[in-house]
Amino acid sequence: MVLDAPLQVPAPVFEQVAEFQHEQVVYCHDHETGLRAIIGIHNTVLGPALGGTRMWHYATEAEALHDVLRLSRGMTYKAAISGLNLGGGKAVIIGDARKIKSEALLRKFGRFVNNLNGKYITAEDVNMTTKDMEYIRMETKHVAGLPESMGGSGDPSPVTAYGTYMGMKAAAKKAFGTDSLAGRRVAVQGVGHVGTYLLEHLQKEGAKLVLTDYYEERAYAAASRFGAVAVGLDEIYDQDVDIYSPCALGATLNDDTIRRLKCRVIAGCANNQLENENEHGPELVRRGIVYAPDFLINAGGLINVYAEVTGSSREGALTQTEKIYDYTLQVLDRAEQDGSHPQAAAIRQAQERIAAIGKVKATF
Ligand code: NAD
Repeated sequence: MVLDAPLQVPAPVFEQVAEFQHEQVVYCHDHETGLRAIIGIHNTVLGPALGGTRMWHYATEAEALHDVLRLSRGMTYKAAISGLNLGGGKAVIIGDARKIKSEALLRKFGRFVNNLNGKYITAEDVNMTTKDMEYIRMETKHVAGLPESMGGSGDPSPVTAYGTYMGMKAAAKKAFGTDSLAGRRVAVQGVGHVGTYLLEHLQKEGAKLVLTDYYEERAYAAASRFGAVAVGLDEIYDQDVDIYSPCALGATLNDDTIRRLKCRVIAGCANNQLENENEHGPELVRRGIVYAPDFLINAGGLINVYAEVTGSSREGALTQTEKIYDYTLQVLDRAEQDGSHPQAAAIRQAQERIAAIGKVKATF
């Protein structure tokens, strides 16, 4: 996995926090275990800030801060637009997971999470496993995404993939007038947890598949399993396809790639796909490409974790995830009516719900 977006010019901390409009940013340090973590709490108007912890060998602290700010704001929008009573938060632990991860470090981190008294609920993200969540759980109850054997909701990826598939169908309906993906050529970038489950849905519906992955053997294995064509990492952008599905990393929609894309629809599960929302969102509209907002269509995993937090069922989570189809169509219509672009319309919709519910809570 790679960072969601490269940092260009690091600004002072408060300047960045103010730009993203965070409520609180918590720096956690422990000399004994080498823990260096940042917890970003973006907005808690709708509920406790929920979002995973990512462990990554950031080149600089500024890069780690930038990542946690972007990711936690994304969680606020994701929860809000999905109708969940959750705020947005995220944590990053700085360091190479293969070198620094230990039970002691994770438990120390768990104690920092516990100190926030439920204002932040953590879960899995890049380089974290359900086993790691078990260690964190030893120090705090404010953790979700636990294994099913511990009463948790288990792996969120199948639910994320289902929501992404629903969002893709809605975007196809907008672009082609039909949501059938039979015979549609789809390029999937990244065949990890979510990508693989997504391929299952697409194969079942009779889509023609092209795929790539950072790990060649993973790409070939998926190609043989799903009757797909495997292509090189960079070749994925030049494919003659109807739909491009980014399911690996962020910022893959940028000045270099957008001009190469031949697709009419972009719909994938990766977070922060647009390198620059304000430039690349409108650019996709100008090119006649229907973009399904990432935080809207990849919300299935969060919906699944929310079910765990609220004690509701996986079936309920799946039913709610299915609604991503309708939400996507609504946002795409709204963007068209506003003369804006889908990402901007989705953000506005999320912000409106936060503002409206904030007023409901304004009186005792
Ligand atoms: P994963 O690590 O299992 O899979 C990612 C895959 O992408 C890996 O197979 C990796 O080898 C591949 N990859 C990395 N760099 C690549 C590149 N340059 N080109 C092609 N392939 C590359 O992760 P995942 O859980 O499947 O998540 C995929 C994306 O979806 C991530 O951006 C994640 O943040 C986002 N997401 C995941 C969930 C979830 O439920 N897992 C929920 C919401 C969002």
